[in-house]
Amino acid sequence: MIGRHGQITTLIISDIHGNLEALEAVLACRGPEQEVVCLGDLVGYGPNPNEVVRLVRDLDPTACLLGNHDLAVLGAVPLELFNSDAARAARWTAGRLKPDLRDWLREHAPTQTLPGTHLAHASPKDPIWEYMEESWQGPENFESFSGPLCFVGHTHVPRVFEQTGTNSYTPVRLLGEGETVQLGDNVRMIVNPGSVGQPRDGDWRAAYGVWNPEAGTFTAHRTEYAVETTQQKILDAGLPRFLAQRLTLGR
Ligand code: ZN
Repeated sequence: MIGRHGQITTLIISDIHGNLEALEAVLACRGPEQEVVCLGDLVGYGPNPNEVVRLVRDLDPTACLLGNHDLAVLGAVPLELFNSDAARAARWTAGRLKPDLRDWLREHAPTQTLPGTHLAHASPKDPIWEYMEESWQGPENFESFSGPLCFVGHTHVPRVFEQTGTNSYTPVRLLGEGETVQLGDNVRMIVNPGSVGQPRDGDWRAAYGVWNPEAGTFTAHRTEYAVETTQQKILDAGLPRFLAQRLTLGR
């Protein structure tokens, strides 16, 4: 993933969910010339779908996936598969998303492969729906992509799965702020950077990661943002109150 402009690191973002304040705070941490990869769910839940999609589009990301919420807003998966708050927010978003942004989203997919790196919104095995949370999910997912590395989103929790040999796997673990994991000769990884716009690991701060392909390292990061502004916008929009409350709970 050493890319078009010769820079050596990539900002990995996922699950922005229409939270403009969180996205802007993460982008303020972006290094000069750093590439951007977005793992999907740009919209759903949050009050600024148009602003978020436009901002991501204008970043000219190296890759941008679609998540289950993006697909729901585009009418590509049924809303019956969502809980009531998520379905309400998806309907609200679908009624507001501008045609040019909808068209731009439609050009993307829930999975993509870059040189040396696989990307899937949810999991390599099931890119739209599987929540990768438990160690037993590692082996069958490592079988579902080739190459050393896969990035996933969807759970909103920063985690790493590691394969350390043909039939050898380390237990899945959470990635704390500032923690770095590293690829090795015998190490494959499935890494989740956590969620920009709706973290669910008990920490309300926006989560993202930085991938350094030369060093083979991924570092997890957090940043504060104007969460009360986002919460007020959610209430003003008439979206479900819980979608505002959960942002400060980090759940
Ligand atoms: Zn999501």
